[in-house]
Amino acid sequence: MFDSYLDPGSNAGVGVFFTDRTGGFSKGGMSSLNLGRTDLDDVAALRANMGAVRRASGLECIAVVHQMHGAEVHDVDRDPDWRGDRWLGDRIPGAARIPLADAMVTSVARVGLAIRVADCLPVLLADPWARIVAAAHAGRRGLLDGVLRSTVEAMTAKGARRITAWIGPHICGSCYEVPGDMAADAQHRIPGVATTTSWGSPAIDLGTGACIQLAELGVEVHSVDPCTLTTPSLFSHRGDGPDAGRQVGVVWLD
Ligand SMILES: [Zn+2]
Repeated sequence: MFDSYLDPGSNAGVGVFFTDRTGGFSKGGMSSLNLGRTDLDDVAALRANMGAVRRASGLECIAVVHQMHGAEVHDVDRDPDWRGDRWLGDRIPGAARIPLADAMVTSVARVGLAIRVADCLPVLLADPWARIVAAAHAGRRGLLDGVLRSTVEAMTAKGARRITAWIGPHICGSCYEVPGDMAADAQHRIPGVATTTSWGSPAIDLGTGACIQLAELGVEVHSVDPCTLTTPSLFSHRGDGPDAGRQVGVVWLD
């Protein structure tokens, strides 16, 4: 179920993990540990999937946002109670709406911040000394529109000074084919982000783009994980189609 569990240092008190698609209860294209696409999947399977993640991580509260490919950061400190079915949002009659944003920040302990992805980058960030964590959804649009900058700024505003980031599984530059004008536009906005696919067509390397931006922001990047398109144990929007399930990256303060 868990691709990795990393710790930024001894007794640093930050938990980080990335799920893969194994160990869950969803069927078909969402098989099996789907933690997104709550609009399409079976509610009982979704509940069982999140229950498995809660048991394995020991977290009762796992916050999510309705991701819009933007740069908005939601402050979970103002609303940290994410127990039960709240993450399912509209699928539960009368439930509160899930905040619209592409990043979250918190200084509250034992609240997981979960970013849901299937080719885009899940970027988890922490200042273990200031005890502030954040998580960002960085696809092409969010990356170019500055979601990582706005996330780091939200952390800094709360007092973060020494930030480490973990980039989780995402589609790699050798697979992420885009039209030539799109690659040129991305290259203009983040020099170094354009590349070519393994078959020679224009492409964007989102992971490289995130590393460039995070370095400019003074953030240490801790790891870059495998390609979602070519790794069978990971959900991939390009590989599985529009009904692809979603894996998550989660970060929290112990
Ligand atoms: Zn790849």
